[in-house]
Amino acid sequence: MSENYLKKYPNEEGYFGAYGGAFLPPHLEQEMKRITDAYYAISKSHSFISELRSIRKHYQGRPTPVYFCNRLSEKYGGRIYLKREDLNHSGAHKLNHCMGEALLAKYMGKKKLIAETGAGQHGVALATAAAYFGLECEIHMGEVDMAKEHPNVVRMEILGAKVIPVTHGLKTLKEAVDSAFDAYVNDSENSLYCIGSVVGPHPFPMMVRDFQHVVGVEAREQFAEMTGELPDNVVACVGGGSNAMGLFSGFIEDEECKLYGVEPSGKSFKPGEHAATMTLGKPGMIHGFKCYVLQDDEGNPAPVYSVASGLDYPGVGPEHSMLKDMKKVEYVTISDQEAIDAFYELSRMEGIIPALESAHAVAYALKMAKEHKRESILVNLSGRGDKDIDFVVDKFGLPK
Ligand SMILES: *Cc1c(COP(=O)(O)O)cnc(C)c1O
Repeated sequence: MSENYLKKYPNEEGYFGAYGGAFLPPHLEQEMKRITDAYYAISKSHSFISELRSIRKHYQGRPTPVYFCNRLSEKYGGRIYLKREDLNHSGAHKLNHCMGEALLAKYMGKKKLIAETGAGQHGVALATAAAYFGLECEIHMGEVDMAKEHPNVVRMEILGAKVIPVTHGLKTLKEAVDSAFDAYVNDSENSLYCIGSVVGPHPFPMMVRDFQHVVGVEAREQFAEMTGELPDNVVACVGGGSNAMGLFSGFIEDEECKLYGVEPSGKSFKPGEHAATMTLGKPGMIHGFKCYVLQDDEGNPAPVYSVASGLDYPGVGPEHSMLKDMKKVEYVTISDQEAIDAFYELSRMEGIIPALESAHAVAYALKMAKEHKRESILVNLSGRGDKDIDFVVDKFGLPK
């Protein structure tokens, strides 16, 4: 299993090998230290663990199933299985860590959750968690993103969250991060800052990984029960890397399982047309931690793009950065067009409409199935595609 690995990484200072840490102004450093101490003290307690377990079962609908794709496996070869995080309440894996973060806030006596959101998926998941616990929720979002992702703004408001428009700079995710940090610093007594992936300063990459670990634990047990063995290949898409870390962490000490992280190569490998951080990035610093970063000529985080807005981040989790250097996980790429093809293929062959992010993982699995016909492949279907349907049909049309 994976318990030795999980205890070993990160170290006390929040490092995964050379990556991670917390590089912040002194006042923020103090805040992160406070969250770290609270997390260590609270998350191991029997009452915290049993409350989270009960939420997973009765509210989120866990365990989510592992499903064998009959028709796809027959067509492509291989044996393709999906871990159905699209069936988790609210339609994606993100609620796994948001419920954990919100429960921590409750135990710390906080009244409010604060976060930024890019496309709005993290904001919606956190607003869901806040409603469950009766906490206030403040989501900072760039004005440009608010216009692009209007349905998610409405969802957050229906759930009772306050969406704060960020109106300076490029009015997108980067400015929203700064704005959310400022709001948190001004009200850290009453509030908890909640990051949306295995990124940011320590302790977030560890905390979010731990809250997503349930995905890997369930999947390993379910797969073994269904087949009597472990999967030959385990595949997940990587934006920040939380759904991938959740699944991978269940198999990380199983030498026989090969792990694949799938990044978006977007329209092309030209600067600004992809978000293949692991493939083309270099070690650097972003948002207060060290990791692989896609950089421009001056060494600043480069502009990124993917058809899946949940994957377009120029950094990546520090743990993934370490796992790449250790060659424990292989990082590969899938283009926009390949992801769109997989989106329709899974919909029509299995009756499951995937999120565009998850469609990247499915696309890689289909490629692999053709080449390795005897092997089993377990894919993390991180979310459902309802949010993407209008965009996909408008932009790409229905397949002939
Ligand atoms: C946000 C999102 C992702 C990307 O985030 P990770 O932290 O890399 O998992 C992937 N799939 C779905 C459905 C998402 O909403």
